[in-house]
This record gives sequence, structure tokens and C-alpha cells, in this order.
Amino acid sequence: MKKKLIVGNWKMNGSLAANAALVGALKDGLAQAAAEAGCGVAVAVPAAYLAQVQALAEGSRIALAAQDVSEHAVGAFTGETSAEMLRDFGVRYALVGHSERRQYHGETDAVVAAKAQRALAVGITPIVCVGETLQEREAGETQNVVKRQLAAVVQAVGHCVTELVVAYEPVWAIGTGRTASPEQAQEVHAVLRAQLAAATTQADGIALLYGGSMNAANAAQLLAQPDIDGGLVGGASLKAADFLQIIAAAD
Ligand code: 13P
Repeated sequence: MKKKLIVGNWKMNGSLAANAALVGALKDGLAQAAAEAGCGVAVAVPAAYLAQVQALAEGSRIALAAQDVSEHAVGAFTGETSAEMLRDFGVRYALVGHSERRQYHGETDAVVAAKAQRALAVGITPIVCVGETLQEREAGETQNVVKRQLAAVVQAVGHCVTELVVAYEPVWAIGTGRTASPEQAQEVHAVLRAQLAAATTQADGIALLYGGSMNAANAAQLLAQPDIDGGLVGGASLKAADFLQIIAAAD
């Protein structure tokens, strides 16, 4: 069976002390789990804490992820973090196009595609986030929206499409406690898989993550769907016990 991937997105949470406690507890929990054969595990941490978490996670199963990456390579872009800088800190994955970036920072499909390209250029795996708002779902636009968002990236990255991870995160399910049902999520994942299959013969190998109020109680059911290859976990990734239970459901 294909290995699953569980990624925690800490968003703008944490402190030196809290991060040390959380990663410490995760390492302890993972050391007791069935290690090697298990799922992939990563945490997407605030840029300010990349160095700290790189050191904390050293030698463990926990890979480092960034929450964003600049679409520019280098230069006069105040406040931005380049893909090369992320690579310097051992970053393996970078979220691109999270709905909070699209919504609060005006990221367009074109910007998201450029970010994915920058990450790939330095060997970082982009986790491309797509998802519809409640209004779009109610208007019957879900499939059109996620297809448009994914198409921009697929077109930009060409044959590197096999190196992407894609996360379906319905905006109405993020931080709301309202999870997509396993059937609702699977329906969209199947659409995304078909879209990827039109671009590559290796679409089955591309990890499709579900995100949006995934928690210890609902993870197993979501992960049992044929096209759900893992999870992108927000709130529940801040509590070691909950995140470990989600990982256990994927192991
Ligand atoms: P929640 O798990 O808190 O709903 O957040 C999901 C998310 O946005 C992960 O990127």
C-alpha cells in the first residue's frame, strides 16, 4: 500500500518554549510507534522558527515544511523568504496557495504557480493547496474552482507534475470544526486525480491530502477513502496527542 503523508500546519502559532515542548512530545510519541514502515510526517512552521525546529527534529521522522515561499528568486522583496533560504534550513516541503494566503494576501493562481516553480527549482516539494469557499460550493462551482486552481500549477510545472503534493482544503471546513464528509472529500479528490492523470501516467503516485478540521476522531475515515493519501492538519497539529493519533491512523 502507498505510504500516506501527514503534515501539520502550525499557521501563526508557537513560541520557542511551546515548539520545544510540542516537537519533544511528538518525537517521544513517534519513537514508540512502528517507525520505519510508517507514514510520512512533516510540520509546516512559521519562518521564524525554521532553524529551531530543524534542530529539534534532527534524527527523527519529522520533516520540515515551510508555510509559504516567495515567487521571486532573490533581491529587493522586503519580508519575503526565498526557496534557496528555505533549503538552507533543510526544508523538504513548502505549502503554496493556502487559502489564507489567497484570501488575506491576494495570491492569484499565477502567483501560486510561480511559487510552486521556485520550490521545485531548489528541490523542495510544493504542497499545492486548492479549495472552494462555501459560496462557491453552494453555487455548484466546487469542481470548476479546484480544477482552475490546480490547472494553473500543472501547466506551469510541466513534466515536474509528478513531484507535486496536492492538498484539497475546502475553505468552509478550515478551522470551523465542520469537516467535509469522507464522500464529499473523495468526490473532489477523484476529480483532482483525473485531472492529474490527464497530465501524467504517474498520477496515482501523487499524494493528495485532505485538509479542513481533520482531527483524531475523523482522520481514519477520511484516510480510508481511495484517493485520500494523507492530511494537512491545522488546529489538531498543535496538540501532540491529537496529532499523534492522526499519524497512527495513517501508519
Ligand atoms: P484546521 O485543521 O484547523 O481546520 O486547518 C486546516 C488547514 O488550513 C491546514 O492547512
